[in-house]
Amino acid sequence: MTDMSDFHQMKALLEWQIELGAVDAISDAPVNRYELEAKPPKLETKAAQPAPAVVRVADVDAVAVARKAAEAASDFNSLRAAMAAFELCDLKKGARNLVFSDGVPGARVMVIGEAPGRDEDQQGKPFVGRAGQLLDKMFDAIGMGRSMEKRDALYITNILPWRPPQNRDPKPDEIAMMMPFVEKHVALAAPDLIVLMGNVACQGVLGRKGITKLRGQWDEALGKPVLPMFHPAYLLRNPTAKREAWADLLSLQARLKG
Ligand code: URA
Repeated sequence: MTDMSDFHQMKALLEWQIELGAVDAISDAPVNRYELEAKPPKLETKAAQPAPAVVRVADVDAVAVARKAAEAASDFNSLRAAMAAFELCDLKKGARNLVFSDGVPGARVMVIGEAPGRDEDQQGKPFVGRAGQLLDKMFDAIGMGRSMEKRDALYITNILPWRPPQNRDPKPDEIAMMMPFVEKHVALAAPDLIVLMGNVACQGVLGRKGITKLRGQWDEALGKPVLPMFHPAYLLRNPTAKREAWADLLSLQARLKG
């Protein structure tokens, strides 16, 4: 009989494995594969059945599937539901929550980050960990924030709604297959300007990386002016780059006034 202390121990072990990146439960008992190889498989004696139709993920155009699903969404709720129903991105399997957005829909500025980290995955909200706290401080310095009135508000999302295991960099195909959802998200949020936080956001929206060169250079994408900036996580590791980030925030502020 399992008592409650066993239960909590098992639960902690399971959470630890998830934290390490385990995404599939394979079986309850270990399998001795040497023994399996020694025994040839039994021959099937039943009459041969026609092979069932199998949809192999490799044959599916994930970007086209995502585009169709995103195009059908007509508001934030249906976009979120379409993303939750999208099964072709493996990151979904290892994530606790789909992280959709935070802030004020309809805000003048939309911030697009990379992907949820551990805290965001747990809370289901973007930019709530250390990098998120820095992001809040940065925008607060120019009188903007995610809970401000519409004129000074931010709307925040990420390229990927699911946390990559061990916070690894998102892969190009993962970015590409989630972009139709990001495009629809921008169309629904209809911001005046977009801030791209870091290389992954630049890769998705501009199709280019190289944030050291791109930052601070206004560009145009998805029908909006876009400003690439250093990601707050990068600023935490490289505090001297805050000087450039401050210059970019002032440039954003000037553009909003102009
Ligand atoms: N980094 C991001 O890019 N997005 C988050 O939501 C959190 C950290």
